[in-house]
Amino acid sequence: MSDLMRGIPFKNLLINTLNEYKNTKTCYYVPVFDSKQSGYTVAGKPVSLPLGAAAGPHTQLAQNIIAGFAAGARIFELKTVQIMEGEELGIIKPCIYVSDEAYNTEWSTELTIPQATEEYIKAYIMLHILAKEFNLKSDFQFHISVGYDLAGIKSAKIDTFLNTMKDASNSDIWKACIKTVLDNISLFENVNAEFVNNISPKISELVTLSTMHGCPPEEIEKIATYLINEKGYNTYIKCNPTLIGYDKVRYLLDSNGYSDISFDTSHFEHDMKLDDALNMINRLINNAKAKNLIFGVKLTNTFPVDIKNSELTGETMYMSGKPLFLLAINVAKVLSEATDGTLPISFSGGIDTHNINDVLSCGISPVTVATLLLKSGGYKNLSKLAQLVPENIPDKVDINKLSNLCDSLTNDTYYQRKQAKQKPAISTLPDACFKCKTCVDVCPNRANFPLEDIKACIHIDSYCNECGNCACLCPFGYVPYRDKFTYFETLSDFENSNNDGFLNNEKYRYKGEVFEDLNKLPDELQKVILRFMQGGEKHE
Ligand code: SF4
Ligand code: SF4
Repeated sequence: MSDLMRGIPFKNLLINTLNEYKNTKTCYYVPVFDSKQSGYTVAGKPVSLPLGAAAGPHTQLAQNIIAGFAAGARIFELKTVQIMEGEELGIIKPCIYVSDEAYNTEWSTELTIPQATEEYIKAYIMLHILAKEFNLKSDFQFHISVGYDLAGIKSAKIDTFLNTMKDASNSDIWKACIKTVLDNISLFENVNAEFVNNISPKISELVTLSTMHGCPPEEIEKIATYLINEKGYNTYIKCNPTLIGYDKVRYLLDSNGYSDISFDTSHFEHDMKLDDALNMINRLINNAKAKNLIFGVKLTNTFPVDIKNSELTGETMYMSGKPLFLLAINVAKVLSEATDGTLPISFSGGIDTHNINDVLSCGISPVTVATLLLKSGGYKNLSKLAQLVPENIPDKVDINKLSNLCDSLTNDTYYQRKQAKQKPAISTLPDACFKCKTCVDVCPNRANFPLEDIKACIHIDSYCNECGNCACLCPFGYVPYRDKFTYFETLSDFENSNNDGFLNNEKYRYKGEVFEDLNKLPDELQKVILRFMQGGEKHE
């Protein structure tokens, strides 16, 4: 078992997705949803729905992005890229803890920059051809995200990333993916070579700047200016919930049952202050306008709190979900009031079915989600949100509406914290785990593969980064990524793990014992393996 995930080769992505859709009308186990509405714009460009997946665990691998698209997402904020990459990040796993609210200790992509670039290009091409093949409303946008300081962003690695995302046509991975589609063109009913050759290589026109808590305002402004002036991107900066001040944050959390969430004033002292933010925002709006580009803000970053009860490892974890909504919507209010509603806001703090319509109706658009997708239902929650997108979204923020929305939260019991259910103490997982599909749904990486017809599911080692989310959600108290019967793609994956499971048709481990004869396994597991090898996620 390793926390290093690997991307799926493009050809497998293509063939597996087409076959799955043909058989079950799903993509990566998510029913394909198409919205009835369309005609929205984000950053001046058309988009079928102003809704999508926030930069995070759901936008890291190509299959995650495909699953989000299947569920109705049309905005994809790709996971942040920075000069430190891959294992250098030293993320301690598990890194996600979900209760009523959620916490994480992850930050930028766990992949190297070339691997991340590859995943984003593969996903982008897949979305174009899937939309055409399945006849879906297909205007989608990829928004890249970079961090965390100017020196890193100007480095050759990040510069190559920024340039490739603006135009990928000269990259090897773009050429290889296009060739693979053309080589397999006979698999499609609605996609032809002309369509494939005309897919625009402009992956992204919008970048969100992510900075560390405590980053000086001058540095933030310099980076945003560089991204606008030198790189020619529409640029959004991600703002912190600390902008509304310690007293307001403490009050909002305390009055909704989150008094035990612990933090001191240090982040508020070090983060950018409201006056500095407003001055900077006004200068950057004008700068972007002069370049015929759009400047906006992303609300908000997660909120740093103390780790008190070993939820995760370390001293600080980052809060999201319902309580973050209370903070983020109040940041939207103060920034909108100060800019007469003209500041474009992309919103992602605790959006769910209870508030999406209200937020978009205020003119705050697009909205993106991460925490909701970690919870029961997983990516399918996007389809529920999609049905709540209003037909008309104002083209600037309606300050009165937004102010009323903030006021209404005082009496809205929805935001009162609910206690998490106690899990039953069960220590042994049944071999094939016939109990439910929760860990299939809630895995961002699609690492728990359902075998619907025999009501089982298999864990796929190479997709899993041991984020820990499935362990928070399993209603029977198991740790799915350790306990479930596991498919290993390579011998070294098999040998580096203690999970019971199998390496293709070559090696098996059951109750810790390794052998090469399938017949030594219980009948039920033999059936599961044979079924997976017939129709599962095999890679060439
Ligand atoms: S299987 Fe569990 S631990 Fe692994 S990536 Fe999925 S949710 Fe995270
Ligand atoms: S491991 Fe838990 S969540 Fe996954 S199928 Fe079994 S009972 Fe359900």
